[in-house]
Amino acid sequence: MADQIPPCPECGSEYTYEDGGIVVCPMCNHEFAPGASSDAEPEARVFRDSVGNELADGDTVTVTVNLDVKGGSPIKRGTKVPKIKLLDEPVNGHDISATVPGAGQMYLKTSVVKKA
Ligand SMILES: [Zn+2]
Repeated sequence: MADQIPPCPECGSEYTYEDGGIVVCPMCNHEFAPGASSDAEPEARVFRDSVGNELADGDTVTVTVNLDVKGGSPIKRGTKVPKIKLLDEPVNGHDISATVPGAGQMYLKTSVVKKA
């Protein structure tokens, strides 16, 4: 139940209700932010390259291995890939979407790139 309103942390009352994004307890008038003290919110995913550097959208990376490309010419080790886009939902295990110079738009894995 994602919409379940948590009980009051002050008095334990279950008669809490949500009002404009905060939860109000009618028993003790305590107001609190729902989910603030729980682990309901997923933490932002951290993307790391092959050597552990944190990656961000728009970073330029270097490919660290020779990559075979289905139906295209292979991407050579050392190829610079500008303006990567990190994917919260990986595509076939690939968590970077980028346009590789000379190869076009494709998906890469953070494990085969290094921050440039
Ligand atoms: Zn209360």
